[in-house]
Amino acid sequence: MKPGEFDLIARLRKRVAARADVQMGIGDDAALLAPPPGQTLVVTADTLNAGIHFPLDTAAADIGWKSLAVNLSDLAAMGAKPAWSTLSLSLPESDTHWWDAFLDGFLALADQHGIALVGGDTTRGPLSIAVTAMGFVEPGHALRRDGARTGDDVWVSGTLGDAAAALALDSRTGSALRLRLDRPTPRVTLGRALTHRAHAAVDVSDGLLADLGHVCRASGVAAEIELERLPASPALLETGSGHRFDWQACGGDDYELCFTADAQQRDRIVALSAELDLRLTRIGRIVAGDGVRALDARGQAWQPERAGYTHF
Ligand code: ADP
Ligand code: MG
Repeated sequence: MKPGEFDLIARLRKRVAARADVQMGIGDDAALLAPPPGQTLVVTADTLNAGIHFPLDTAAADIGWKSLAVNLSDLAAMGAKPAWSTLSLSLPESDTHWWDAFLDGFLALADQHGIALVGGDTTRGPLSIAVTAMGFVEPGHALRRDGARTGDDVWVSGTLGDAAAALALDSRTGSALRLRLDRPTPRVTLGRALTHRAHAAVDVSDGLLADLGHVCRASGVAAEIELERLPASPALLETGSGHRFDWQACGGDDYELCFTADAQQRDRIVALSAELDLRLTRIGRIVAGDGVRALDARGQAWQPERAGYTHF
Protein backbone atom coordinates (compact mmCIF):
# COMPACT_ATOMS: atom_id res chain seq x y z
CA MET A 1 0.00 0.00 0.00
CA LYS A 2 1.22 3.49 -0.84
CA PRO A 3 2.03 5.68 2.14
CA GLY A 4 -0.58 8.34 2.85
CA GLU A 5 -0.09 12.02 3.53
CA PHE A 6 0.24 11.36 7.26
CA ASP A 7 2.98 8.75 6.71
CA LEU A 8 4.94 11.29 4.69
CA ILE A 9 4.50 13.95 7.38
CA ALA A 10 5.56 11.44 10.06
CA ARG A 11 8.75 10.59 8.15
CA LEU A 12 9.50 14.27 7.90
CA ARG A 13 8.69 15.10 11.49
CA LYS A 14 11.26 12.61 12.82
CA ARG A 15 14.03 14.45 10.99
CA VAL A 16 13.22 18.08 11.75
CA ALA A 17 15.69 20.05 13.89
CA ALA A 18 14.49 21.73 17.08
CA ARG A 19 14.96 25.40 17.95
CA ALA A 20 14.36 27.11 21.28
CA ASP A 21 12.17 29.77 19.64
CA VAL A 22 9.75 27.17 18.21
CA GLN A 23 7.11 26.69 20.91
CA MET A 24 5.06 24.38 18.69
CA GLY A 25 6.27 23.12 15.32
CA ILE A 26 4.76 20.40 13.14
CA GLY A 27 1.77 18.64 14.69
CA ASP A 28 -0.88 21.19 15.56
CA ASP A 29 -3.11 23.31 13.34
CA ALA A 30 -0.45 26.02 13.20
CA ALA A 31 3.03 26.69 14.53
CA LEU A 32 3.76 28.88 17.55
CA LEU A 33 6.92 30.92 17.13
CA ALA A 34 8.68 33.39 19.42
CA PRO A 35 10.59 36.03 17.45
CA PRO A 36 13.46 37.67 19.38
CA PRO A 37 12.29 40.91 21.00
CA GLY A 38 13.34 44.06 19.19
CA GLN A 39 14.09 42.36 15.86
CA THR A 40 12.26 42.87 12.57
CA LEU A 41 10.69 39.69 11.17
CA VAL A 42 11.59 39.10 7.50
CA VAL A 43 9.26 36.80 5.50
CA THR A 44 9.61 35.55 1.94
CA ALA A 45 7.89 32.89 -0.21
CA ASP A 46 8.85 31.24 -3.49
CA THR A 47 7.27 28.41 -5.50
CA LEU A 48 9.09 25.90 -7.70
CA ASN A 49 7.09 24.21 -10.46
CA ALA A 50 8.43 21.14 -12.25
CA GLY A 51 9.64 21.90 -15.76
CA ILE A 52 9.58 25.66 -15.15
CA HIS A 53 11.84 26.21 -12.15
CA PHE A 54 13.84 23.02 -12.52
CA PRO A 55 14.35 20.59 -15.42
CA LEU A 56 12.13 17.49 -15.24
CA ASP A 57 15.19 15.23 -14.83
CA THR A 58 16.32 17.04 -11.63
CA ALA A 59 17.12 14.65 -8.76
CA ALA A 60 14.71 14.74 -5.80
CA ALA A 61 17.50 15.82 -3.39
CA ASP A 62 18.40 18.72 -5.67
CA ILE A 63 14.75 19.84 -5.86
CA GLY A 64 14.64 19.77 -2.05
CA TRP A 65 17.83 21.79 -1.77
CA LYS A 66 16.83 24.32 -4.39
CA SER A 67 13.33 24.91 -3.00
CA LEU A 68 14.85 26.14 0.25
CA ALA A 69 17.92 27.77 -1.35
CA VAL A 70 15.92 30.20 -3.49
CA ASN A 71 14.07 31.37 -0.38
CA LEU A 72 17.25 31.72 1.69
CA SER A 73 18.66 33.75 -1.18
CA ASP A 74 15.79 36.23 -0.72
CA LEU A 75 16.49 36.40 3.01
CA ALA A 76 20.19 36.94 2.20
CA ALA A 77 19.28 39.78 -0.15
CA MET A 78 17.50 41.46 2.79
CA GLY A 79 20.47 40.89 5.12
CA ALA A 80 18.39 38.62 7.37
CA LYS A 81 19.45 35.79 9.65
CA PRO A 82 17.29 32.76 8.68
CA ALA A 83 15.30 31.03 11.43
CA TRP A 84 12.19 29.17 10.28
CA SER A 85 10.57 27.77 7.16
CA THR A 86 7.37 26.13 6.00
CA LEU A 87 7.07 23.62 3.17
CA SER A 88 3.90 23.14 1.12
CA LEU A 89 3.97 20.58 -1.65
CA SER A 90 1.75 19.13 -4.23
CA LEU A 91 3.00 15.66 -5.25
CA PRO A 92 1.74 13.51 -8.14
CA GLU A 93 2.09 10.35 -6.01
CA SER A 94 3.30 9.37 -2.56
CA ASP A 95 6.70 7.77 -3.06
CA THR A 96 8.84 7.33 0.06
CA HIS A 97 12.11 7.01 -1.92
CA TRP A 98 11.46 10.31 -3.65
CA TRP A 99 10.26 11.89 -0.41
CA ASP A 100 13.27 10.80 1.68
CA ALA A 101 15.66 12.02 -1.02
CA PHE A 102 13.80 15.33 -1.30
CA LEU A 103 14.13 15.74 2.48
CA ASP A 104 17.86 14.87 2.31
CA GLY A 105 18.39 17.92 0.13
CA PHE A 106 15.98 20.25 1.91
CA LEU A 107 17.13 19.39 5.44
CA ALA A 108 20.86 19.41 4.56
CA LEU A 109 20.56 23.08 3.67
CA ALA A 110 18.21 23.80 6.59
CA ASP A 111 20.71 22.24 9.02
CA GLN A 112 23.59 24.21 7.48
CA HIS A 113 21.79 27.40 8.46
CA GLY A 114 20.19 26.20 11.70
CA ILE A 115 16.67 26.59 10.32
CA ALA A 116 13.67 24.77 11.79
CA LEU A 117 10.91 23.50 9.49
CA VAL A 118 7.80 24.49 11.45
CA GLY A 119 4.88 23.48 9.25
CA GLY A 120 3.44 23.11 5.81
CA ASP A 121 0.94 21.24 3.72
CA THR A 122 1.08 18.03 1.69
CA THR A 123 -1.41 17.52 -1.14
CA ARG A 124 -1.78 15.58 -4.38
CA GLY A 125 -1.32 17.29 -7.75
CA PRO A 126 1.33 18.18 -10.35
CA LEU A 127 4.77 18.49 -8.70
CA SER A 128 5.04 21.94 -7.13
CA ILE A 129 6.89 23.09 -4.01
CA ALA A 130 6.08 26.29 -2.13
CA VAL A 131 8.41 27.33 0.67
CA THR A 132 8.15 30.24 3.07
CA ALA A 133 11.30 31.31 4.89
CA MET A 134 11.45 33.61 7.88
CA GLY A 135 14.35 35.36 9.54
CA PHE A 136 15.34 38.42 11.53
CA VAL A 137 17.14 41.66 10.91
CA GLU A 138 18.10 44.58 13.12
CA PRO A 139 15.40 47.25 12.76
CA GLY A 140 16.42 49.84 10.15
CA HIS A 141 19.25 47.70 8.79
CA ALA A 142 17.51 45.49 6.21
CA LEU A 143 19.14 45.57 2.75
CA ARG A 144 16.45 47.11 0.60
CA ARG A 145 16.16 47.74 -3.12
CA ASP A 146 15.46 51.43 -2.70
CA GLY A 147 18.72 52.54 -1.05
CA ALA A 148 21.10 52.90 -4.04
CA ARG A 149 22.69 56.35 -4.42
CA THR A 150 24.35 58.10 -7.35
CA GLY A 151 28.10 57.47 -7.14
CA ASP A 152 27.74 54.03 -5.52
CA ASP A 153 29.80 51.13 -6.80
CA VAL A 154 27.85 48.10 -8.06
CA TRP A 155 29.18 44.75 -6.84
CA VAL A 156 28.29 41.13 -7.43
CA SER A 157 29.22 38.00 -5.47
CA GLY A 158 30.58 34.74 -6.87
CA THR A 159 30.29 34.19 -10.61
CA LEU A 160 27.44 34.73 -13.06
CA GLY A 161 26.07 32.74 -15.98
CA ASP A 162 26.65 29.12 -15.00
CA ALA A 163 23.01 28.23 -14.39
CA ALA A 164 21.86 29.78 -17.67
CA ALA A 165 24.68 27.99 -19.51
CA ALA A 166 23.69 24.68 -17.91
CA LEU A 167 20.12 25.14 -19.17
CA ALA A 168 21.11 26.33 -22.63
CA LEU A 169 23.70 23.56 -23.11
CA ASP A 170 21.53 20.89 -21.45
CA SER A 171 24.50 20.05 -19.18
CA ARG A 172 24.45 16.62 -17.59
CA THR A 173 23.54 16.20 -13.92
CA GLY A 174 26.57 16.58 -11.64
CA SER A 175 28.64 18.69 -14.07
CA ALA A 176 30.09 21.93 -12.73
CA LEU A 177 27.60 24.09 -14.64
CA ARG A 178 24.62 21.92 -13.77
CA LEU A 179 25.53 21.98 -10.05
CA ARG A 180 25.12 25.74 -10.07
CA LEU A 181 21.61 25.29 -11.48
CA ASP A 182 20.62 22.41 -9.18
CA ARG A 183 22.40 23.38 -5.94
CA PRO A 184 22.61 27.16 -5.72
CA THR A 185 24.43 28.57 -2.68
CA PRO A 186 22.38 31.26 -0.93
CA ARG A 187 24.77 34.06 0.12
CA VAL A 188 23.40 34.31 3.65
CA THR A 189 26.63 35.21 5.48
CA LEU A 190 27.46 37.85 2.89
CA GLY A 191 24.00 39.40 3.14
CA ARG A 192 24.26 39.68 6.90
CA ALA A 193 27.73 41.22 6.68
CA LEU A 194 26.47 43.81 4.19
CA THR A 195 23.73 45.21 6.45
CA HIS A 196 26.11 47.89 7.71
CA ARG A 197 28.11 48.33 4.49
CA ALA A 198 25.79 48.26 1.45
CA HIS A 199 23.13 50.78 0.42
CA ALA A 200 20.95 48.38 -1.58
CA ALA A 201 20.91 44.71 -2.56
CA VAL A 202 19.00 42.19 -4.65
CA ASP A 203 19.56 38.53 -5.36
CA VAL A 204 20.16 37.59 -8.98
CA SER A 205 17.31 35.19 -9.72
CA ASP A 206 15.91 36.55 -13.00
CA GLY A 207 19.15 37.88 -14.53
CA LEU A 208 21.60 40.60 -13.50
CA LEU A 209 20.26 43.38 -15.74
CA ALA A 210 16.65 42.66 -14.79
CA ASP A 211 17.33 42.41 -11.06
CA LEU A 212 19.62 45.45 -10.96
CA GLY A 213 16.87 47.19 -12.91
CA HIS A 214 14.55 46.62 -9.93
CA VAL A 215 17.09 48.32 -7.66
CA CYS A 216 17.40 51.28 -10.04
CA ARG A 217 13.64 51.71 -10.35
CA ALA A 218 13.11 51.49 -6.59
CA SER A 219 15.98 53.90 -5.91
CA GLY A 220 15.27 56.39 -8.72
CA VAL A 221 18.73 56.00 -10.25
CA ALA A 222 20.45 54.34 -13.23
CA ALA A 223 23.33 51.85 -13.43
CA GLU A 224 26.22 51.28 -15.82
CA ILE A 225 27.71 47.79 -15.97
CA GLU A 226 30.99 46.85 -17.66
CA LEU A 227 30.47 43.48 -19.34
CA GLU A 228 34.17 42.61 -19.28
CA ARG A 229 34.14 42.81 -15.51
CA LEU A 230 31.38 40.24 -14.99
CA PRO A 231 32.94 37.37 -13.03
CA ALA A 232 32.89 34.04 -14.88
CA SER A 233 33.65 30.55 -13.57
CA PRO A 234 36.32 28.38 -15.23
CA ALA A 235 33.52 26.05 -16.39
CA LEU A 236 31.74 28.91 -18.12
CA LEU A 237 34.92 30.14 -19.81
CA GLU A 238 35.68 26.60 -20.95
CA THR A 239 32.47 26.53 -22.99
CA GLY A 240 34.09 29.18 -25.22
CA SER A 241 30.55 30.22 -26.10
CA GLY A 242 29.68 33.47 -27.81
CA HIS A 243 26.58 33.57 -25.58
CA ARG A 244 28.71 34.11 -22.49
CA PHE A 245 27.68 37.72 -21.87
CA ASP A 246 24.02 36.95 -22.49
CA TRP A 247 24.10 34.17 -19.92
CA GLN A 248 25.95 36.38 -17.45
CA ALA A 249 23.91 39.55 -17.87
CA CYS A 250 20.49 38.07 -18.60
CA GLY A 251 20.46 34.45 -17.43
CA GLY A 252 18.57 33.67 -14.25
CA ASP A 253 19.05 31.24 -11.38
CA ASP A 254 22.52 32.37 -10.26
CA TYR A 255 21.36 33.39 -6.77
CA GLU A 256 24.35 35.64 -6.28
CA LEU A 257 23.90 38.98 -4.51
CA CYS A 258 24.18 42.23 -6.43
CA PHE A 259 24.66 45.21 -4.14
CA THR A 260 25.60 48.88 -4.20
CA ALA A 261 27.92 50.60 -1.75
CA ASP A 262 29.70 53.90 -1.27
CA ALA A 263 33.14 54.00 -2.94
CA GLN A 264 34.61 54.56 0.53
CA GLN A 265 33.61 50.99 1.38
CA ARG A 266 35.88 49.43 -1.28
CA ASP A 267 38.69 48.36 1.05
CA ARG A 268 36.25 46.91 3.55
CA ILE A 269 34.43 44.96 0.86
CA VAL A 270 37.72 43.59 -0.47
CA ALA A 271 38.60 42.55 3.11
CA LEU A 272 35.15 40.96 3.48
CA SER A 273 35.73 38.96 0.31
CA ALA A 274 38.95 37.51 1.79
CA GLU A 275 37.27 36.87 5.14
CA LEU A 276 34.36 34.98 3.55
CA ASP A 277 36.53 33.36 0.88
CA LEU A 278 33.95 34.56 -1.63
CA ARG A 279 34.69 36.45 -4.82
CA LEU A 280 33.24 39.99 -4.74
CA THR A 281 33.62 41.93 -7.97
CA ARG A 282 33.03 45.61 -8.69
CA ILE A 283 31.13 45.54 -11.99
CA GLY A 284 29.91 49.11 -12.44
CA ARG A 285 28.44 52.20 -10.87
CA ILE A 286 25.20 53.95 -10.03
CA VAL A 287 24.57 57.14 -12.00
CA ALA A 288 21.75 59.65 -12.37
CA GLY A 289 18.89 58.74 -14.70
CA ASP A 290 16.97 55.50 -15.14
CA GLY A 291 17.56 52.00 -16.49
CA VAL A 292 20.61 49.74 -16.62
CA ARG A 293 23.19 50.15 -19.39
CA ALA A 294 25.69 47.42 -20.19
CA LEU A 295 28.92 48.60 -21.84
CA ASP A 296 31.21 46.43 -23.96
CA ALA A 297 35.03 46.52 -23.90
CA ARG A 298 35.07 49.68 -26.06
CA GLY A 299 32.59 51.46 -23.81
CA GLN A 300 29.78 51.06 -26.36
CA ALA A 301 26.22 50.23 -25.30
CA TRP A 302 25.58 46.49 -25.56
CA GLN A 303 22.23 44.92 -26.45
CA PRO A 304 21.35 41.49 -25.04
CA GLU A 305 19.68 38.80 -27.18
CA ARG A 306 16.79 38.81 -24.71
CA ALA A 307 15.96 40.45 -21.40
CA GLY A 308 15.62 38.70 -18.00
CA TYR A 309 13.20 35.91 -17.24
CA THR A 310 9.55 36.77 -16.83
CA HIS A 311 6.71 34.30 -16.44
CA PHE A 312 4.01 35.92 -18.54
P1 ADP B 1 -4.41 20.70 8.86
O1 ADP B 1 -5.38 19.76 8.23
O2 ADP B 1 -4.79 21.20 10.20
O3 ADP B 1 -3.95 21.77 7.92
P2 ADP B 1 -2.32 18.90 8.15
O4 ADP B 1 -2.80 17.51 8.27
O5 ADP B 1 -2.25 19.53 6.81
O6 ADP B 1 -3.11 19.80 9.18
O7 ADP B 1 -0.87 18.99 8.78
C1 ADP B 1 -0.59 18.45 10.05
C2 ADP B 1 0.67 19.07 10.57
O8 ADP B 1 1.76 18.72 9.72
C3 ADP B 1 0.64 20.59 10.60
O9 ADP B 1 1.39 21.00 11.74
C4 ADP B 1 1.33 20.98 9.35
O10 ADP B 1 1.95 22.26 9.48
C5 ADP B 1 2.34 19.86 9.21
N1 ADP B 1 2.71 19.60 7.81
C6 ADP B 1 1.94 19.07 6.83
N2 ADP B 1 2.61 18.95 5.68
C7 ADP B 1 3.85 19.41 5.93
C8 ADP B 1 5.03 19.58 5.14
N3 ADP B 1 5.07 19.24 3.86
N4 ADP B 1 6.12 20.10 5.75
C9 ADP B 1 6.09 20.47 7.04
N5 ADP B 1 5.03 20.34 7.83
C10 ADP B 1 3.91 19.82 7.29
MG1 MG C 1 -3.15 21.48 6.13
